[in-house]
Amino acid sequence: MLRFMPMSFYSKVSEKASMGVVAADQVIGDFPEYASTKDTPKCNGICTGGCGRTCTTTGRKYDSLVGYSKDRAVVKESNLLCTPGDPYNGKLNVLMHEFAHAIHLVALGTDFRWHRLLDESYLTWGERWGTGYATSDQKEFFAEATTSYFRTSTLGPEAAEMNLCGDPRNNTICPDEFSSRENLKTKDPTLFRLVDHLYSGGRTFLQGRIGICDW
Ligand SMILES: [Zn+2]
Repeated sequence: MLRFMPMSFYSKVSEKASMGVVAADQVIGDFPEYASTKDTPKCNGICTGGCGRTCTTTGRKYDSLVGYSKDRAVVKESNLLCTPGDPYNGKLNVLMHEFAHAIHLVALGTDFRWHRLLDESYLTWGERWGTGYATSDQKEFFAEATTSYFRTSTLGPEAAEMNLCGDPRNNTICPDEFSSRENLKTKDPTLFRLVDHLYSGGRTFLQGRIGICDW
């Protein structure tokens, strides 16, 4: 994912971003910096008041998440290893999605040029893509553009069709990384320019070959 990233971005990512894995019986809040998100008996089933810290903005308990990220991307072991407990059944590389959030935070930082490209693309997504988790906000849009660029999501709705090649009504997941990149490039040149420069320095032919369950 970082192998072909230009040094100007890579240096920020290697300095400020990190990743972590939690076991099946652990939660995101077991990492000290996310400890405040941990659920308590008092907050069980409650997201209001003082319990708001245990819930995401969409009302999900942090303890129920498969992954989460600020500058540390955290993922459940079951998804990373695609073991039977993986809620995504080997169809989404959550670590890559979460690490994209960390990259967004530390590498794009306050650089207006990149944010402008992302805004330009996000604000007009309805002209190109379907609806789905990817269209929740700019952060999710960028993270799902990342998994589509590397072809590490085979969930159509999750990526708001960014990973579907050809007519989205056919629901055809792009068969390989190269076609997935070509698809992004054709349908959203602005978004493609952003992720292609960030991850490959514009050298689209340098594929990540990461996969969903194979590391
Ligand atoms: Zn996300």
